[in-house]
Amino acid sequence: MSFEFIDSHCHLDFSPFSENEGYYLQKAQEKGVSKFIVPSVNQSNWANVVSLSRQHESIYYALGIHPLFISNDHQSEVLSLTKFVSEHRDKCVAIGECGLDFWDKESNRDIQVDVFREQCLLAKIHQLPLIVHSRKSHDHVLKILREIKPEKGGVIHGFSGSFQQAEQFIQLGFYIGVGGVISYERAIKTKNAIAKIPLDKILLETDSPDMPLSGFQGKINTPDKVANLCDYLAMIRKESKQSIANVVYKNTTSLFGI
Ligand SMILES: [Zn+2]
Repeated sequence: MSFEFIDSHCHLDFSPFSENEGYYLQKAQEKGVSKFIVPSVNQSNWANVVSLSRQHESIYYALGIHPLFISNDHQSEVLSLTKFVSEHRDKCVAIGECGLDFWDKESNRDIQVDVFREQCLLAKIHQLPLIVHSRKSHDHVLKILREIKPEKGGVIHGFSGSFQQAEQFIQLGFYIGVGGVISYERAIKTKNAIAKIPLDKILLETDSPDMPLSGFQGKINTPDKVANLCDYLAMIRKESKQSIANVVYKNTTSLFGI
């Protein structure tokens, strides 16, 4: 048996990893994780994710503006993103991470919606998939996706929600990004959803350095944990690890064209 995985969402440019990515990449490769998708969060790290991908063949990047990291002048940031994407297409596999985060009721929802819509349009122009962050906002995200219809779909990253919600995203051509949440006993609703959706609509992701798995709380999360996520997924779905690893690998390469 041999397993090959892709971490479809890890922030390898963030400080716990910086200057030491080689070590974490090797640790992950020992567990079969052979490729890594590193999304950006705003203008401040677009150049960093590009440079990481030039240093390591196994790293690909996504360019976007995260809903919680929108700058004060959001219109000019969107323009900069548009320009940056057209100048850095080589290993750019998606627009993201982008989306909506309505966890904090005080947040500026109108600006988030604006910036997300612009990025959906950008994904359409470049025929790239989207890496979508959606927290307490699934219905709003669905509405925008239905309206703009980005043909290349994307992934709802770190999905947490019900089977019905997952199904609606899948109907729009999106994959469901499964992360550390499935390792927690209390995540019953999300685990039920993940057990029922088609395997060919699932991606695995760590969201490193965030989202530590159960048993690793308080520690930095690392991309080698994709292998543990496959174990959890096999348990939840009562399917073999090998078939999960094979199908999820294929899902990821086909979505991102890698
Ligand atoms: Zn993330």
